[in-house]
Amino acid sequence: MFSGEFTILREARNDILQLPSSQEAILEKYTLLIDHYDKLLRTALKLSRISDIQGQSLTNQNHRLKQQSETDFLTSLYNVRKLGESIPTWMAAGIPFVLLLLDIDYFKKINDTYGHLSGDEVLKTLATILQEHTRPEDFVCRSGGEEFSILLHNVGLLQAEGIAQNIRQKVEEQEFWLIAGESVGITVSMGLVEYAPGMSSEDLLVCADDALYLSKELGRNKVSLFPPLSDKRHN
Ligand code: GH3
Ligand code: MG
Ligand code: MG
Repeated sequence: MFSGEFTILREARNDILQLPSSQEAILEKYTLLIDHYDKLLRTALKLSRISDIQGQSLTNQNHRLKQQSETDFLTSLYNVRKLGESIPTWMAAGIPFVLLLLDIDYFKKINDTYGHLSGDEVLKTLATILQEHTRPEDFVCRSGGEEFSILLHNVGLLQAEGIAQNIRQKVEEQEFWLIAGESVGITVSMGLVEYAPGMSSEDLLVCADDALYLSKELGRNKVSLFPPLSDKRHN
């Protein structure tokens, strides 16, 4: 790759070794050396530009890989790996938050009736609804299959319940368009728990899961809180 530059250096060295015999010869050698120097400088500039471009491309590639590693491929929401990182990060930062687990009701029936690809369309539309009904500071992820997890930033349990009820109602009213041009309606069940200092990520997930299970037990299309309140509070 650098054979041209090595030739320039070799020629320059030979020129220096041959002692000039006259004033003109000195001038000629001097001009020749400046010429060699210019050629080498141009190569050095070219190399530094190539190295800048390669460095930038590596930075972009790293950024893309990081994004891919924390994103759900189907919905472009965060994935469960990022959830596992975010919960302890929020805890350590002392951010008050509520964990909301959401599961689509009878989703298997959608797949069985309309096919897996139609099921995927429903998941994508639901992801959009979740993003539209949360704030930029909230964390929204597909934690697996037809289950989603949301970290609601800086809210108490009652405010979080309001947000969850909005989502539940919006989903119930929404027409979900499928690939064949048909539409279906779905409902979702949710479980909410507020983070209290001393709780671990596992504690939080287990409590939210208990609340979600209660919503399913109560007939689905419900929002339940942990700790459970009187039945009157469940919608
Ligand atoms: P429940 O109300 O109790 O939650 O019933 P369900 O049918 O929603 O729950 P179940 O666990 O029986 O079925 C979940 C279904 O979700 C089964 C599985 O095929 C489907 N599923 C999981 N991941 C995907 C996905 O990425 N795309 C599609 N289309 N379906 C998925
Ligand atoms: Mg499920
Ligand atoms: Mg389900």
